[in-house]
Amino acid sequence: MKKIAEIITPDIKTVAVAGHVRPDGDCVGSCMGLYLYLKENYPQLEVHVYMESIRDIFQFIKCSDEIISECPQDFSPDLLITCDASSSDRIGILTDVYSQAKKTVCIDHHVSNLGFAMVNHVVPESSSASEVIYELLEDEKISKNTAEALYTGIVHDTGMFQFSCTSSRTMEIAGKLMDKDIPFSWIIDTTFNQKTYVQNQILGRTILESILLMDGRVIVGGVHAREMDFYKVTPKDLDGIVNQMRITKGVEVAIFFYESGNHEFKVSMRSNGIVDVSKIAGYFNGGGHVKAAGCTMQGSVYDVINNLTPYIEEQLNEGKKLD
Ligand code: AMP
Ligand code: MN
Ligand code: MN
Repeated sequence: MKKIAEIITPDIKTVAVAGHVRPDGDCVGSCMGLYLYLKENYPQLEVHVYMESIRDIFQFIKCSDEIISECPQDFSPDLLITCDASSSDRIGILTDVYSQAKKTVCIDHHVSNLGFAMVNHVVPESSSASEVIYELLEDEKISKNTAEALYTGIVHDTGMFQFSCTSSRTMEIAGKLMDKDIPFSWIIDTTFNQKTYVQNQILGRTILESILLMDGRVIVGGVHAREMDFYKVTPKDLDGIVNQMRITKGVEVAIFFYESGNHEFKVSMRSNGIVDVSKIAGYFNGGGHVKAAGCTMQGSVYDVINNLTPYIEEQLNEGKKLD
């Protein structure tokens, strides 16, 4: 697929755009960017966008109040496009009705994506699904509203253009989006830098109680349900903690977990390069990117740590040999 226009054939009347579970900035940005573009440029289409409820910080994105966060009763769109979803079980609210769509298209950038749709457009070299979406649109047809959404997605998946997934093309695209007169500095500050007081408290607490393993090359920290209750935080408030852990001097891998159920932990891993965390997450039915991946694990905190660390150690030792 070179352009999105190729899949909007005359027989397509209804389109559904869907993100992934626990929508992050790139999920919201790519889905809303595509949704707004289709609405603005294809007025003959009936388009809907589906994902779980989004964080308040993303609600400035135009028409984000139109996001449908419940599984629809009657669902048989002519075309279903998923953005930033790496596998069919991560589509979230549409998982059960996925097969009812007449045509499915997957637009993504996860290296772990094996291609679960009828048409798969997966670009692992791309910084973000928002960047992949940009390349599929006609620049002159991108409005300020669409540009704001896509820019937000790129900012979030590149950690403000700092992660190694950022390419010169990413910067070019960001520049083209800035030319649409978007409040780029405000978007970075409000959606990425700014934290609430409790978010900072829980970040501080996690780092205070974190442990270093393997000569300081691995940092592990997490939050239990009782702490989340105490600080009145939800998983959405925990975004960014693992990134802060990763930049600890000497650290190769950061592991952050939070209790997502009884004897169940959602694990986020970040790597500085030697270790492929996507591979490790894959052993536990998760996935992601080489340097940023996640999975859900059963057991106690000690089980989580004991199950992950041998794989990390193995890769770190291999890395050492390569040096
Ligand atoms: P997170 O640690 O949740 O911020 O996720 C880091 C990256 O890994 C993102 O690109 C996610 O899409 C991906 N990821 C996280 N959890 C999972 C999972 N359970 N299965 C597949 N991919 C995941
Ligand atoms: Mn995502
Ligand atoms: Mn992404």
